[in-house]
Amino acid sequence: MDLKPCTIPPIIPKLEAAIRALPTDHPSLLAILQDHNNKMRGYKGQKSLVFYLDQLSKKKYDIIHDLRLFDGKYFFQFDILLICTSFALIIEVKNRGGEIIFERNFNQTTLKQGNKRTRISNPVLQAKTQAEKLKKWLQEHNCPMLPVLYLFVNSKEETVIITETHNYEINRRICNSEGLLEKIESIESSSHERMDAKDLKKITRLLLASHVPENYNILEKYNISPKVLLTGVRCPKCETRPMNYIYGKWFCPNCGMKSKDAHLQHINDYFLLIKPTITNSELRQLLKIDSIKIANNILTNSKLPFTGKFKDRVYHQPKN
Ligand SMILES: [Zn+2]
Repeated sequence: MDLKPCTIPPIIPKLEAAIRALPTDHPSLLAILQDHNNKMRGYKGQKSLVFYLDQLSKKKYDIIHDLRLFDGKYFFQFDILLICTSFALIIEVKNRGGEIIFERNFNQTTLKQGNKRTRISNPVLQAKTQAEKLKKWLQEHNCPMLPVLYLFVNSKEETVIITETHNYEINRRICNSEGLLEKIESIESSSHERMDAKDLKKITRLLLASHVPENYNILEKYNISPKVLLTGVRCPKCETRPMNYIYGKWFCPNCGMKSKDAHLQHINDYFLLIKPTITNSELRQLLKIDSIKIANNILTNSKLPFTGKFKDRVYHQPKN
């Protein structure tokens, strides 16, 4: 069963909000763009495996995407965890272009893109470490024990994997997306039942309940003062700020675009970056409007949940 499907990680919309809200010359922008790029690549890599995982028996396998657990000191995360009554399989997905070269010496892995060759962390060893952490975590939570196996899957078709033929320990833990089902079948054929369905359900329930989504405060992480964030509604077409609010519509002074709801994204970005509530006065500052009455109309029409009466009313970020 797909217990935790592959969805956009909550940190991605936050990073996108920061990219929209920062001036183009802000010193943290490049790092945020890179962070966003890495997270998107990881998400797309996982998503491209869904097609193959969908072909597995839903009755036999439980699939959990993007699980993040706490070991008492640190968080550890799996791209995909496949679990059944015979084994658990950690799948580390990489979705990067170029050549990934595994060398036996020092267990070193390098990535070659064009003429540039850089050392990257060995994804097989990464998966192995996660497998060990999961084993320990299950033990500490008094779960019935299962063999915890691991695999690195390259999900990018254009990527070439180069390994040394005698590097058996590493080679058997690597495959391309299209070889994933075959690998799982071969693991399945050499394993046997370790527990009943009830025990498995107990484990998966505990894993899901212990999941802590990665959802940090972007401004804190990148040391950005809220004061530097751009205010005024951004034109959805040409990105000019601020749009002007005239008779219930936003007008772009640059391209002439008209919009009734261009402010909605800006309010949502505020929720994602600053805090999950907004007042009339905060909204006026954010959208660069003077009138309390217009701000009130905008908030009422946005249909946001609210608490408090009249002047003290606070509007809340919707649950979904
Ligand atoms: Zn415009």
